[in-house]
Amino acid sequence: MEENCLFCKMIKGDVTSSKVFEDDNMIIIKDINPIAPIHYLLIVKEHYQFLNQQSIEQAHKLGECLHKLSIMQSTLGLDKGYRLIINQGEFAGQSVHHLHVHILSGKELKWEQL
Ligand code: AMP
Ligand code: ZN
Repeated sequence: MEENCLFCKMIKGDVTSSKVFEDDNMIIIKDINPIAPIHYLLIVKEHYQFLNQQSIEQAHKLGECLHKLSIMQSTLGLDKGYRLIINQGEFAGQSVHHLHVHILSGKELKWEQL
């Protein structure tokens, strides 16, 4: 838990979010500013910013999160396909400094639209 982190506050429940799933390792919420018809954020519960700050245990937990996501894909409306994005650093577009995975779907996603 990092005091000034928006996502930590959401995980704690101090800031409301449109949560669609929660387990011990993650929450999945709807992005407030969607760039696709379906745009979720998979937010790991432990606070760290970058993949290269991960312990091997945290890496395993992220793997479990992705596996859980794949199991839940029908429930989340992702059966036709989806794109996962992790922005690493402001140069790559990261604005919230807590590791999260964007989940995009709901329309055909052309690679060149990025
Ligand atoms: P990134 O730019 O990769 O750090 O992603 C941060 C994402 O958080 C952006 O897509 C924002 O639209 C989203 N976001 C910011 N504030 C909120 C909020 N209060 N609820 C849901 N999503 C948010
Ligand atoms: Zn945080």
